[in-house]
Amino acid sequence: MEQQNKLLIGSHVTFNKKEQLVASVEEAISYGATTFMFYTGAPQNTQRTEIDDFQTIKAMKLMKENGIDQNAVIVHAPYIINLANRDNLDFGVSFLKEELERCSMLGMKYLVLHPGSHVGKGKEEGIATIRKGINQVLETYHGNTMILLETMAGKGSEIGSNFLELKEILEGITYSNRVGICLDTCHLNDAGYDLTNFDQVLKELDQIIGLDKVKCIHINDSKNEINSHKDRHENIGFGTIGFDPLLKIIFHEKLKDIPKILETPYIDGEFPPYKQEIEMIQEKKFHENLKEEIVKYYQKRLQA
Ligand code: FE
Ligand code: FE
Ligand code: ZN
Repeated sequence: MEQQNKLLIGSHVTFNKKEQLVASVEEAISYGATTFMFYTGAPQNTQRTEIDDFQTIKAMKLMKENGIDQNAVIVHAPYIINLANRDNLDFGVSFLKEELERCSMLGMKYLVLHPGSHVGKGKEEGIATIRKGINQVLETYHGNTMILLETMAGKGSEIGSNFLELKEILEGITYSNRVGICLDTCHLNDAGYDLTNFDQVLKELDQIIGLDKVKCIHINDSKNEINSHKDRHENIGFGTIGFDPLLKIIFHEKLKDIPKILETPYIDGEFPPYKQEIEMIQEKKFHENLKEEIVKYYQKRLQA
C-alpha cells in the first residue's frame, strides 16, 4: 500500500523562559498540530534567555512521542531586525547571527526573516543592504539553520512583496544555498497576487525563484482586498481569500512536504483558534460558526 504523507500543519506557539521548547511542543500538541513555529523570545525585543539544553532534550522526546517532525519546526526572527536600513545594519547583523546560533542550539532547521523596510532610502539601496547584511551573517555563522525570507504585504516601505525583489536579494547572496523562501498567503494577497488562480502564482514563483526554495508557508486569510498592502490576518475562511483557495494551497501536490503555519488572530483577542482551524482544514469543510465554536470550547474549559 502506498504510504500517505501526513499533512504538516501547525501554528505559531509560545516559547517561555522556564519550560522553553517544552511549552511550545505542549501547546502544539494541544492543537493536534504536526509542526509549529515559535519566537525564541518576545518578537518585538532583543531580550533572550539562555537556552536550557535539559528542556530542549525533553522537548525533542515529546515531539518524537507525538509525531511532530523536528525538521519541520520553524523559528521566526524578531521584527526589530531590519537589514534594509544601513543605519541599523550592525545591530541587525549581530542579532540575526545570535538568533541563528540559538536555532542551532535548539536543533531547528529554519529561521523565517522579514527582509526589511528601506525607510525612505529607496528599494535599490534597501535590497543592496539586505544582501550585504545576510552575507556578513553567513560569513561568520556556519551552523545548519537556513534563513527563509518571507514574502511581505508591501506595507510602508517593506521590501519583498514580489518575487522579483526576493530574487534580486537571493542573487546577491554568496551562500545562496543557505537562504530560502517562506510564503505568506495573507501577504501574497495584500501584495496583489490572485490566490484564486494559485497555479498561475506558483508558475510565476517557479520561473522567477524556483519552487525548491520554498521551505515554509504561512497560512492566513486576509481582512483586506487583494493589492491593499495592509497585512492584517483573518481566520481561515473568514477573509477575502476564502476557504477553498486556502484549502487548495494547503493540499497542493507540489507543496505537500512543506510545513504550513497558521498565524491567524485569536478570537476576541483571547482564544487561540488553531485547534479548531486545523480540524476544519483536515475535514476540508468550512464551519460558518467556527468562531462561536472556539469561544464555547474555551469557556467550557475555563468553567471546568
Ligand atoms: Fe512573519
Ligand atoms: Fe507570516
Ligand atoms: Zn503578516
